[in-house]
Amino acid sequence: MAGIYIHIPFCRQACTYCDFHFSTSLNIKKEVVAAIKTELELRKNYLNEPVETIYFGGGTPSLLSAAEIDAIIEAIFKNYAVDLKECTLEANPDDLAKSYLTELAKTKVNRLSMGIQSFNDGVLKWMNRTHNSQTAIAAVKDAYRSGIQNISIDLIYATPNSTVKDIEKNLSIALSLPVNHLSAYCLTAEEKTVYGKMVSTGKISEAEQENAQQQFLFLVHRATENGFEQYEISNFCKNENYAMHNTSYWKNRNYLGIGPSAHSYNGTSRQWNLKNNFSYVKAIKENTSFLR
Ligand code: SF4
Repeated sequence: MAGIYIHIPFCRQACTYCDFHFSTSLNIKKEVVAAIKTELELRKNYLNEPVETIYFGGGTPSLLSAAEIDAIIEAIFKNYAVDLKECTLEANPDDLAKSYLTELAKTKVNRLSMGIQSFNDGVLKWMNRTHNSQTAIAAVKDAYRSGIQNISIDLIYATPNSTVKDIEKNLSIALSLPVNHLSAYCLTAEEKTVYGKMVSTGKISEAEQENAQQQFLFLVHRATENGFEQYEISNFCKNENYAMHNTSYWKNRNYLGIGPSAHSYNGTSRQWNLKNNFSYVKAIKENTSFLR
C-alpha cells in the first residue's frame, strides 16, 4: 500500500502559529496546479505498488476549485496504478460553501479534514484564522449533508491563558457534530512564527506544562468516554475510521509527495521538493531538478 501527498502551498492569510510552507499570494495558483500535474507524470515510476490513499494538504487545498482537484486526481489515475481507499482534502471552514461542497462531492474526495482549531471566536481571532465558530459548525453540517460523511476536525489546545474549561467547551461542541475523527494538537511556539516571536520577546507566555498536560488528559478522557478511540497521541476516531494516509506514515509505508516542499519516501531514500513556489514552477517548466 502506498500513498500520494499533494501539497497546495497557498493560504488566504498567515495563522499566528503556523510554520508550514505556504504563500498568501495566489497569483501563480494555476501555474502550480499545472506543475503538480506535470510532476505527477514525471514521477510515475517512483512507487512500485498501488496507490491506496491520496491526501491534499497544505497550505489550504480548499482554495482549489473542485475542477482543479478533479484534474489532479485524474492525473494520478492516468499515471499510477490506483486502488483508492481514501482521498482526503484538508479544508478551511470558510471555503466550504454549499455550492462548493456539492461540486466536491462529485469528485473522488471522500474525506474532509477541517482546520477548525477552536470554537472560541476570541481565540480564532488571536490565531488570525479566517473563519468564526458559527461558520465552522455550519461547514461540518453542510459537508455531512453534501454526502462527504467521513469528516475529521483539527483542534488546538493549550493556547495562552487557556484552562481545562476551554478544551471542555471546545469538545462539547465538537462531539455534538457529525464527525468521526478528531486530531487535537498542543500549541507549540515555532521559532519563525508570529506566536514564536511573541513568546521569545516576552509579549506572551506559553501555557504551563502542567496546565497543557491537564488539558491533554481531559481531552483523552472526554473523547474516549464519547466513543472515540485514541489510536495515536493526537488522533482519535470513532468506529475504526482511522486516517489511512497518515497512519501509513507512522507505519513507515512508501509515499510520494508532490508540490512545493513535499517529501517523498520509497523505502530506501527520502526526497524533498523545493520550498519556493516560483522556483518549483520554474524547475518543472524548464525540466531541471525540482528537488532540494
Ligand atoms: S490555514 Fe493552515 S496552512 Fe494556512 S497558515 Fe493557517 S494553519 Fe497554516
